[in-house]
Amino acid sequence: MKKIAVVGAGISGLTMANYLEKHKIDYHIYERRKMKDQAGHGFLIPKEGMDYLYQIIDPEILLKHGNFLKKYTQYSRTGKTLAEKELDHVFAISRHSLIHLLAQNISPEKITYEETIIPDNQQTGKLKLSDGTDIDADIAVISDGSKSRIRRDLFKGEKMSVVRESEVVNIIQNKEIADSVGNNFIKFHHEEGGLTFGILKLSGDTILWYSQFDNEKYMINACTAENLKKYMLEVFEDWHPLIPSIIQKSDYKNVHLWCVYELEKLNPFYKDNIVFIGDAAHPLIPFTSQGVTSALKDSFILTKYLSEEENTEKAFKKYEAERKPEIETHINNGRILLEQFLRPLRQQSENILPISYK
Ligand SMILES: Cc1cc2nc3c(=O)[nH]c(=O)nc-3n(C[C@H](O)[C@H](O)[C@H](O)COP(=O)(O)OP(=O)(O)OC[C@H]3O[C@@H](n4cnc5c(N)ncnc54)[C@H](O)[C@@H]3O)c2cc1C
Repeated sequence: MKKIAVVGAGISGLTMANYLEKHKIDYHIYERRKMKDQAGHGFLIPKEGMDYLYQIIDPEILLKHGNFLKKYTQYSRTGKTLAEKELDHVFAISRHSLIHLLAQNISPEKITYEETIIPDNQQTGKLKLSDGTDIDADIAVISDGSKSRIRRDLFKGEKMSVVRESEVVNIIQNKEIADSVGNNFIKFHHEEGGLTFGILKLSGDTILWYSQFDNEKYMINACTAENLKKYMLEVFEDWHPLIPSIIQKSDYKNVHLWCVYELEKLNPFYKDNIVFIGDAAHPLIPFTSQGVTSALKDSFILTKYLSEEENTEKAFKKYEAERKPEIETHINNGRILLEQFLRPLRQQSENILPISYK
């Protein structure tokens, strides 16, 4: 059986490792970050993604680390209810918790942290460890995220663009707010579009709040936590009092400003013995809430074909043929959701759910 190198231990790399483990396929993961460094935002995971997660994480343990959201309510800036929708098994979990749970099944000798894999400048398509030695593997599964350096090296003509939406995301501990939010996912909207503030409970006393903003209209120049807080207080000053109060009370040690990127056109998902999964294959904008589910499905399907097919290229080809059409649907849905978000509320359609379904 062939040996596989997995590059990146984010959601897709770790998921891939879990499926390879299940199929008893030999692998090693290389991850640039330190083991303890698991910073990040949180995820909404629709039911389909949960069904894949249950295959690799004990459901009882998984459910203890997150929260099922029951209802989505869309409010105006001042708190008038605009629309409501029941949610069907949409799970909320922090990236930190999910990474931790996915890494638990990987034995320490199969993962090397603080190792950045680099393309070989002398030979296109060859990968190297940071000390210049070749990777010991027959196949490389690349899961190094949306700005994948390896993808850019292989597909030199690709065009990446900044999406006209950025997000300030913060995860805080506050039992009072967590209890008051419960299983509701609430989101406030500016009447002129291009600005929202969402709140949801991740677990117990932990909540995630985030602001999505049109980065052509609202510009944040400095990204220190202090500046983000100041900016948020200014922008949301006259919104429903819950919002400035949450912004004021929050701890800012986990706050982050996310810039979102998209590929103008998808590349092939593989070349020679290198295959891409997750955001490295297909960046998906946050509006779709499909990044994690897509990473899970990529890993599941790729592992299935690698175990069924003797011929690697055949396995890659089948993987791409099965995954690309669905990804293209999510990319299109994401663009529609983005366009809706940028419009004034009165021009938005009634499809309010911030999730892309096939
Ligand atoms: C603000 C925001 C909100 C989002 N909300 C949701 C949501 O609600 N639901 C959802 O499903 N998705 C959401 N997404 C998308 C989701 O985060 C991604 O789809 C998902 O994290 C992709 O995982 P990944 O493993 O492919 O990439 P990443 O999470 O980017 O992981 C890549 C990993 O590779 C490592 N790496 C990079 N380069 C190298 C290298 N050269 N060598 C070794 N290691 C390397 C990195 O350190 C990192 O650990 C959101 C994204 C953003 C930005």
